[in-house]
Amino acid sequence: LATENSVQESLANRYKLINNKTSNDPFQKAYDFDSIDLMRQANCYAYYQTIDQNEGPEAIVNGKTCTMLGSNNYLGLTIEPRVRQAAIDAIAQFGTSLTGSRLLNGTHALHEKLEEELAKFLNKEAALVFTTGYQANIGITTALVGKNDYLILDKFNHASITDGADLAKGKTVYYQHNDMNDLERVLQSIPEEHGKVIMVDGVFSMEGDLADLPNINRLAKKYSARLVVDDAHGVGVIGEAGRGTANYFGLEDDVDLIAGTFSKALASIGGFVAGDRKVIESIKHFGRSILFSASLPPASVAAALESLRIMQQEPQRVDRLNKNAQYMREQLRTRGFNIGHTETPIIPIIVGEDIKALTLWRELLKEGVYVNAVIYPAVARNQALLRTSYTSEHSREQLDRALEILQKMKNSYQF
Ligand code: PMP
Repeated sequence: LATENSVQESLANRYKLINNKTSNDPFQKAYDFDSIDLMRQANCYAYYQTIDQNEGPEAIVNGKTCTMLGSNNYLGLTIEPRVRQAAIDAIAQFGTSLTGSRLLNGTHALHEKLEEELAKFLNKEAALVFTTGYQANIGITTALVGKNDYLILDKFNHASITDGADLAKGKTVYYQHNDMNDLERVLQSIPEEHGKVIMVDGVFSMEGDLADLPNINRLAKKYSARLVVDDAHGVGVIGEAGRGTANYFGLEDDVDLIAGTFSKALASIGGFVAGDRKVIESIKHFGRSILFSASLPPASVAAALESLRIMQQEPQRVDRLNKNAQYMREQLRTRGFNIGHTETPIIPIIVGEDIKALTLWRELLKEGVYVNAVIYPAVARNQALLRTSYTSEHSREQLDRALEILQKMKNSYQF
């Protein structure tokens, strides 16, 4: 049986294996890769876990009810009867799919309604709905970052921005996470004749900290750079009635584009970008991911639209979410957990080595607490963490029980 040491060793060597040059069969690396099997043998394979049911604050995993500290269902709307009904009605009325790209046969009146309401909510002229948030970022970069342009990215940005950068024609440069001196150094190094776009997560998806938008905006203006904020974890979470990070900092007019997702607070799937009408039109006609992929199905659009409306009608949900998040940040900090610089409902518990995060994931699940184990390269080496996240619907009893179990683990595993 695999030991935890063999898992750790195999994980440490996995990139050497992937880049192995000893075979000219591209598939050989797959046959040689043993980390997954070893993790399974050691019962600490934390990925692709089947969730029987996710109710928001609780989930059923392997038939067992757990406190769910591993979802992005921030406002608990995935099981809200009005949201469910909106999706059911859309299927009954419009069928399951438009079977085509937005450009051709894939645009429905529901897409346009959602775009109109989103733009209004975010105080922008126009919005565009994509099939995922991942694709929204690809659409933005491929439409706007041309050969002569530089894309300037925070090192901790979400992978969809990095992938968008790889697909765009321009050059990409990175600055150290939220380090304004480094951002300025990067901006200074770009010759003046080049266009510049700074693209940044509003709320960082693994660490839960906020981008230093006031200073990023100041530097963007100083160096004539455009500013795009991916607010996947900000919309529905912070700002007035969940208007997001730009609103939170009073910078809605300064941020050129706000991108996001429907797969978190808005309880559906899909992505969006909002900004000036002419810029949105350009993304609509030049973004690769909107042109060459089928549109978001009516049920998903209807669920997102209903969630957006409920969010505005019931701002107390956002308040409850932030009260729960604040309670957990205070409790965990007081108890000596290392939770980094989070200011949001994403609370990382930094534990160190990959294997520690994987073992803790297993032990927490045994105790009925579901978290996400995040290891290198999703986070820096030896900064493996348990990503915990909270919703407006967690009760104080559920949170206190989770705290007790986390404390027990901290005492036994020393982190
Ligand atoms: N951006 C960020 C910051 C994210 O965290 C995510 C989702 N993990 C995405 C984009 C992609 O969103 P989607 O799930 O809608 O593709």
